[in-house]
Amino acid sequence: MSDIIRLTAAELGEKISTGEISSVEATQAHLDRIAAVDGDVHAFLHVNEHALAAAAEVDARRAAGEQLGPIAGVPLAVKDVLVTTDMPSTSGSKILEGYMSPFDATVVARSRAAGLVPLGKTNMDEFAMGSSTEFSAYGPTRNPWDLDRIPGGSGGGSAAAVAAFEAPLALGSDTGGSIRQPAHVTGTVGIKPTYGGVSRYGAIALASSLDQVGPVTRTVLDAGLLHDVIGGHDPQDSTSLAQEWPSFAAAAREGATGQVLKGLRVGVIKELPDSGFQAGVAASFRESLAVMEAQGAEIVEISAPHFEYGVAAYYLILPAEASSNLAKFDSVRFGLRVTPDGNPTVEDVMSATRDAGFGPEVKRRIILGTYALSAGYYDAYYGSAQKVRTLIQQDFDAAFAQVDVIATPSAPTTAFRIGEKVDDPLQMYLNDLTTIPANLAGVPGISIPSGVAAEDGLPVGIQFLAPAHEDARLYRVGAALEAALVDSWGAPLLSKAPALRQAQGPKQGGTR
Ligand code: GLN
Repeated sequence: MSDIIRLTAAELGEKISTGEISSVEATQAHLDRIAAVDGDVHAFLHVNEHALAAAAEVDARRAAGEQLGPIAGVPLAVKDVLVTTDMPSTSGSKILEGYMSPFDATVVARSRAAGLVPLGKTNMDEFAMGSSTEFSAYGPTRNPWDLDRIPGGSGGGSAAAVAAFEAPLALGSDTGGSIRQPAHVTGTVGIKPTYGGVSRYGAIALASSLDQVGPVTRTVLDAGLLHDVIGGHDPQDSTSLAQEWPSFAAAAREGATGQVLKGLRVGVIKELPDSGFQAGVAASFRESLAVMEAQGAEIVEISAPHFEYGVAAYYLILPAEASSNLAKFDSVRFGLRVTPDGNPTVEDVMSATRDAGFGPEVKRRIILGTYALSAGYYDAYYGSAQKVRTLIQQDFDAAFAQVDVIATPSAPTTAFRIGEKVDDPLQMYLNDLTTIPANLAGVPGISIPSGVAAEDGLPVGIQFLAPAHEDARLYRVGAALEAALVDSWGAPLLSKAPALRQAQGPKQGGTR
């Protein structure tokens, strides 16, 4: 395996800035890796045929004396929920097959301006509905740790690309856990920023009051570097916060010194007992807490009595918003159009298109959402769910009066087998038990690798949550624990992942 693909984005950016490696070389190394392994992993739906040209342009900008940022020239994988002008954007759905956007999502535009090189579009559950990437209309992504297992979802493609060293950085979106749960099952780092902290302009909407775009990386510092590029106010997004943010890379660097753990109050939720988690997940969580305690953190038991209703409230609010957001896929404005035989009406065309274009999970949620919003049931379902949402927000407020961060395991189990839960929606939904509350409350969350489960050798993540606007705290705490753990393991967790065999991957410029 080429050494270039083993470098973190911070290291690669440094070598590119000193001229030791060109962006073209860095990009070629990752395209070679994709060609070698993505036939097995299937992280990418589309590999960017313009990647080398974009890399050459960054090299030329540097040669011309332009001052570029710390990760200029580094390749980036982009979740297919984010629209791009030079590659199709499908959101994992047949209804958008081949769809070309007339504009770039703000996070993509900012990445290009900072000299990041888009490598391709990553696979995902259709319209970001799912926890395993099995609901992609284009076939599942496989977990690089064990190809028979799921890489999490909905952003399994971005997490698998980073875990398989196909990309040093990726963009994801997190509506109920789709950045953090894939990070947990692939041994990578994922951050859901504060709601409004990163622009949603050009992110194909799932549930607009919950969606956030964020970084998917191998280290906390790399996530901070990417967050610095994509974050901050965007007038194109009416929910974007008009505030100044500190440098998240600087916060990660400060955290890596370890000092921040001294006196840090870490809340552990008493209503989430160890018994609710796979044994190895609970054990790894306890070990991480012990490591933090040894460095001076104080573990405080807190009560968040409404957390356990998060999943129920989420599966009313999300389908309600999704059913409305997906109404625009009507055969007229975007993508697929299926015209039935005979003399079809507009409604016949719409209904045939939506029947052929949407997969089973999307249909399930549209039905759930329209039902929850229907006149006779609105108060009983949607209205009640919104009240629960408020109670969860109050739980957070009370907790953060006592502690600096809350810690939980990032998900209940390690990566399950492909096929294991795909026909059991409830089991699939329960994956997001610990990630959903952050979306309901709009607070930021980070998942970092905490080890492997003894029983199956698969990766486990620990999640930290902080008050809204305090994303920098997550970078400090995440980097501090990461430094302590990597020190105790002697190497990053991903170095323990079994090597992928070299399969034949997709051709560059191909849509798969
Ligand atoms: N797994 C959750 C769901 O299916 C989360 C999805 C997401 O964050 N996009 O809705």
